[in-house]
Amino acid sequence: MKLAVIEGDGIGREVIPAALEVLDTFGLDIEKVSLELGYARWERTGAAMTEEDLDLIKECDAVLFGAITTVPDPNYKSILLAIRKGLDLYANVRPIKPLPGIAGVTGRSDFDFVIVRENTEGLYSGIEELHEDAAYTRRVITRRGSERIAAYACELAKKRDNRLTIVHKSNVIKADKLFLDVCRETAEDYGVESSDMLVDAMAYSLMKQPEKYDVVVTTNLYGDILSDMSGALVGSLGLLPSANIGEKYAFFEPVHGSAPDIAGKGIANPLAAILCVKMLLEWLGEKKASLVDEAVSHVLQNKIITPDLGGTSGTADVGHAVAEYLRSH
Ligand code: ATP
Repeated sequence: MKLAVIEGDGIGREVIPAALEVLDTFGLDIEKVSLELGYARWERTGAAMTEEDLDLIKECDAVLFGAITTVPDPNYKSILLAIRKGLDLYANVRPIKPLPGIAGVTGRSDFDFVIVRENTEGLYSGIEELHEDAAYTRRVITRRGSERIAAYACELAKKRDNRLTIVHKSNVIKADKLFLDVCRETAEDYGVESSDMLVDAMAYSLMKQPEKYDVVVTTNLYGDILSDMSGALVGSLGLLPSANIGEKYAFFEPVHGSAPDIAGKGIANPLAAILCVKMLLEWLGEKKASLVDEAVSHVLQNKIITPDLGGTSGTADVGHAVAEYLRSH
């Protein structure tokens, strides 16, 4: 398999090497294709990414991505959105579960759910009309888009606790009724137990009773907001991985950005990027993927942790410690 590796900018250049060290311990037959994209590339060449880059990415099966600093050019178009569209990565998947010894904002450790967000339509359709005194963005919900995200969420639910929560706002936004209906029908077809929640009530409930949820499926904007908010349940930004999955390709990235404030100091937490490797291994069907969780628990329990978690270890130390655990298990 061919893996495009995009370190990007800032701490992306520190956490991705640590993640690759971890990936290498699995000894898989992976050809890595390194691409320089982002702010530094834009400064050097005037282009953060070109069509040729996208073609090179399309020749790969999956992407491991660090982070990109937004380019200060009014005509700059998001690289992430271009890749998501170009590879048709329709499912954004974010697992939310506690890690040993790390307390999130609620101090709870009894939750384990996954947010599956539709990634290609909704309010991020890009169909916009901007006038001086009014501006319009079209919210797109299609049967096909809703069916495929619902199917993805149901497949995932079947491997977990077989429960799906459909999040919407169909009491006010009519387009959401289509999303809700299609998700309900799909859950029925898959034999997955489903319930639904209005997005505002869901925001409250996720903070109060996160243990109630298994797989949560929702539209683009709601998923974006709920998944960042849910990150606070886990703790540090440096601990949250995510995957963007399509029919053919998959793209794995830590939730955090390029963190210019700590870049170059070697203190960024690499665990989010390392947990992205776990998601990549799962996507590849690698049976030993869950060993990464074990290795991460091991370093947390032994306090081999970066300053964001109150430790004194560096990015590379944490990467080496996770890799060492995996080599010896
Ligand atoms: P960008 O513009 O690329 O999104 P940002 O600094 O605005 O960068 P983040 O990179 O998400 O946004 O960082 C937000 C805060 O969280 C920063 O103070 C950063 O130092 C901290 N942070 C983010 N990722 C990590 C990490 N992996 N390890 C430690 N701290 C992190």
